[in-house]
Amino acid sequence: MRPGAPTRNGKGRGPRRVSSERFMPRIDTVLLDRDGTVIVDEHYLCDPARVRLLPGAGQALARLAASGARLFLVSNQSGIGRGYFTQVGHLAVQARLEELLCEHGVRLAGAAFCPHAPDAGCPCRKPGLGQWEALRDRHGLDAATTAVIGDKASDVAFGHALGAAVTVLVLTGHGEQQAQSLGLPPLAGEAMDLTGETPDGRPWPDVLARDLAAAVERIVGK
Ligand SMILES: [Mg+2]
Ligand SMILES: [Zn+2]
Repeated sequence: MRPGAPTRNGKGRGPRRVSSERFMPRIDTVLLDRDGTVIVDEHYLCDPARVRLLPGAGQALARLAASGARLFLVSNQSGIGRGYFTQVGHLAVQARLEELLCEHGVRLAGAAFCPHAPDAGCPCRKPGLGQWEALRDRHGLDAATTAVIGDKASDVAFGHALGAAVTVLVLTGHGEQQAQSLGLPPLAGEAMDLTGETPDGRPWPDVLARDLAAAVERIVGK
């Protein structure tokens, strides 16, 4: 969280701090991970019939959109590069997701995805910045007013790498396991602000939230 936030990686000051609520910068752009954050994480999803919004996700995104934020999906879809499904299957899932969001009055401003396998060395697999750069250049996005929400440490690292104003780890999808791997304290309440990093220097998310609705509540404010 910047500017004005305490440095998140004050080396030597100890890695762990749960802070009381900090100033929340104005957010007009939200980059959303897809699987485990907006929809139920199905292993290598390519069947549109199996797309299910996580509980409360549609309402949460409606609230976020009503606050004036533009919503974008950023997603690693290595199943394409691994040959498990095609880009056509991916786009069918994307269309179904947009249909489900439409029922909540939500329209995405854009979406990016990485179709490559993890070992391809591409620049667009999160936490690489390719998806951000494409969306930023196309839509004129500003990292200083951007929030990143995801269920994996790679989403958090992606947010920090692009200089996002706020990074949020949600506990849906892989979130619980990822929070453990980052050594985060147990969640108190629906969402809480954090400052810290792992012993090997991976920064913590700025906010830990129970789910997308709690993340939106923290971003949009009371
Ligand atoms: Mg995910
Ligand atoms: Zn890629």
